[in-house]
Amino acid sequence: MKLEFYRSLPVYASADIVVCGGGTAGAFAAIAAAREGKDVLLIEQFGSLGGTATNGLVTPVMSTHTPGDRQCSYLSKELRDRLIARGSGDRGGRLFDPLAMKFELEDMAQEAGVRFLYHTFIPDVIQEDGTVEAVIIANKSGLSQVKGKIFIDCTGDGDVSVRAGASFNKGNPETGINQPMSLRYIVDQVDIRAWGEFFEEIKKKTGVSLAAGADPDGKSFYAHCCKGNPVTLTPVFEEAIANGDLTEEDHLYWQAFSMPGRPGSVAFNCPEFFTGIDGTNPEDLTQAQLNGKKAIRRQLAFYKKYMRGFENAYVSEVAPMVGVRESREIVTDYVMKPEDLLCKKKFPDMFCQSNYPIDIHGKSLKNIANDLVPEDDKPWYDIPFRSLLVRGIDNLMVAGRCLGAEFLVESSLRVQHSARSSGEAAGIGAALALDSGISPHAVNGADVRSIMASKGAEYA
Ligand SMILES: Cc1cc2nc3c(=O)[nH]c(=O)nc-3n(C[C@H](O)[C@H](O)[C@H](O)COP(=O)(O)OP(=O)(O)OC[C@H]3O[C@@H](n4cnc5c(N)ncnc54)[C@H](O)[C@@H]3O)c2cc1C
Repeated sequence: MKLEFYRSLPVYASADIVVCGGGTAGAFAAIAAAREGKDVLLIEQFGSLGGTATNGLVTPVMSTHTPGDRQCSYLSKELRDRLIARGSGDRGGRLFDPLAMKFELEDMAQEAGVRFLYHTFIPDVIQEDGTVEAVIIANKSGLSQVKGKIFIDCTGDGDVSVRAGASFNKGNPETGINQPMSLRYIVDQVDIRAWGEFFEEIKKKTGVSLAAGADPDGKSFYAHCCKGNPVTLTPVFEEAIANGDLTEEDHLYWQAFSMPGRPGSVAFNCPEFFTGIDGTNPEDLTQAQLNGKKAIRRQLAFYKKYMRGFENAYVSEVAPMVGVRESREIVTDYVMKPEDLLCKKKFPDMFCQSNYPIDIHGKSLKNIANDLVPEDDKPWYDIPFRSLLVRGIDNLMVAGRCLGAEFLVESSLRVQHSARSSGEAAGIGAALALDSGISPHAVNGADVRSIMASKGAEYA
């Protein structure tokens, strides 16, 4: 019945490769596939690219923690260089302005010939006998279908894979609970020099000089303060909590970053939520927006009352997208296991190398660097191409934080470096499959890596 109804819907568009979700991985998948000369349609619920990195306001890009911080994505290097050229990225390629990234990703996708379909949500798919025929879309034109030869699920939550019948894992296997979510925001008109002087005064008073600093030119700074890890700002937070101006939860995870090209702007990695944190539950997402905006106003009042430099400051942006660290992990041809990360396993079909720590948020943080020196003396783990191939569905791939990995592994590979690399690998893998007239499941992952490397992706 359902399939019959869906098949009766008008066909809105068709493409060789349909990229579902234009976020961190999706933008890279679409650009990479289009650069291979393929006809690519990208469908995205918001009106811009970058997803969590831009609409979730998640800056900076974390280091890969590999020797030389190797970039396993040629597009990532190009994006870094473009952001630096426009004054919106730092030389290390980590700090960036999320708005500038939206502009650059859109330019890169348009230059590559990607077709866009913004403001369009994918609620379901038409799948029969292990093949996805079309995704169902909902937008101002109503319900319709988009047909394709290969689909790449870059929705972060694995929406398309799950609707196509794929199996998935969700949450910490010990508790069943997802990683915390956050609603990030930006404050403008901060006098960074005054804020930096304030840090220095506290350091002098308490003798604690940790996790708060600003360059004298006021262009770059960094601060964090998380309960349980005493740092320079701890007494300031404790005083505000004692006075009822902050909650205990405000203190569990608080971080502030500068953004190149935006003097006087501060990007905050908070407030963080510890209950009601299922990113696939619309009620939880709604509460995160409602409670988050209240917390943000409380935090701004705290800066104004307890710190210096915020006299004229105001909240200039609240992320339209709730920051979801982890929701579903899709079961793929190979699902990465904790021992793969812990023992730094290598795979013949590797497309990405990473040694980013295990990074599980919660009321107590687990940020554990993996210092093991493996037998092969290569201090990183590989992500295999098979983790992008949705098990049991012939023409469906998945990239980004919901690729095939168990919870603990996801906590490490969820960062932007590996999400970008997975999008690029999926886009190139889909193009190779089309060229050879085979399923993506039959593509040799080593060939995908060779193409990525030939274009500038860095591997040891
Ligand atoms: C609070 C927070 C802080 C973080 N901090 C860092 C950090 O400092 N450094 C770092 O490197 N990483 C960090 N990360 C991790 C990293 O940013 C994300 O894991 C990564 O960006 C996710 O990429 P993705 O492509 O899987 O998903 P996303 O970038 O979220 O992309 C998914 C896209 O799909 C779209 N979409 C979803 N469902 C549908 C649908 N059904 N129909 C149509 N469109 C849909 C979304 O709108 C979005 O554009 C952080 C994450 C969070 C949440």
